[in-house]
Amino acid sequence: MPQKLGQHFLASPPILERIASAACPQPIERILEIGPGQGALTAKLLNHAGRVIAVEVDAAMVAHLRERFPGEPRLEVVHADVLTTDLTRWGQIPVAGNLPYYITSPIIEKVLRARLPRAVFLIQKEVALRLTASPGSRDYGYLTVHTAFFGHARRLFDVKPGAFRPPPKVDSTVIAIEPHAVPPAVADPEGFLRFLGQCFRQKRKTLRNNLIEMYPKAIVEAWPEAAMRAEQIPLERFLEMFLRLPPQASAAVRISG
Ligand code: SAM
Repeated sequence: MPQKLGQHFLASPPILERIASAACPQPIERILEIGPGQGALTAKLLNHAGRVIAVEVDAAMVAHLRERFPGEPRLEVVHADVLTTDLTRWGQIPVAGNLPYYITSPIIEKVLRARLPRAVFLIQKEVALRLTASPGSRDYGYLTVHTAFFGHARRLFDVKPGAFRPPPKVDSTVIAIEPHAVPPAVADPEGFLRFLGQCFRQKRKTLRNNLIEMYPKAIVEAWPEAAMRAEQIPLERFLEMFLRLPPQASAAVRISG
């Protein structure tokens, strides 16, 4: 079996069932699945949801799914690249998937921006630790704060390589992400995300050194956080700092960024 496109198929019915139950804690009308592959998780999701919309990029997998579920009116197989698919096309519905690991971060970013009501994903453990890390810990970084800006990520359970065919080289973890009921009050969210990216530009540098290229030096140097590193700072404090910047400062980043 070629391992292109991150194709590691989950071969453990109890784990597949746990993922489907986490994605659908009660029977739901519709769910979006990313990367259905040969349909192992799809079959479980069909037991919990009235309709499954499954987005798969590989034509061979799409053909396999159509053969495996012939005439299943509750399954819509969409032959497309998830990264270029409008995930809100089917409404604000929950999403699940055993993700292709080579594009985990861009998929999560896209799902967060779409503000889907719940995401349950099997991803590599290392990324799950980064998504749920605490400030000051080794795994805390841009991905953690970016995710916290949009929602709340939780680790549900770990999955060993032996549960997949073929086994991946890394351990995996099932995570759940729920968007904030009330998003952080920021008038310019894109400006905030650019600011955040600049704060983490070089992980070992102080905020002062990361920020003075882009933001007014006198303002940044006067901050009590100037000598801290981004990896020590929680989301709320990044938001406070951003709100302290004059509006022209975020415009300057927009021009050069
Ligand atoms: N859900 C199946 C399972 O658990 O056995 C397969 C999971 S496998 C890790 C990832 C799946 O994502 C593969 O079927 C792969 O073809 C598909 N995939 C990879 N890149 C994709 C993309 N850009 N858009 C949609 N699907 C993609």
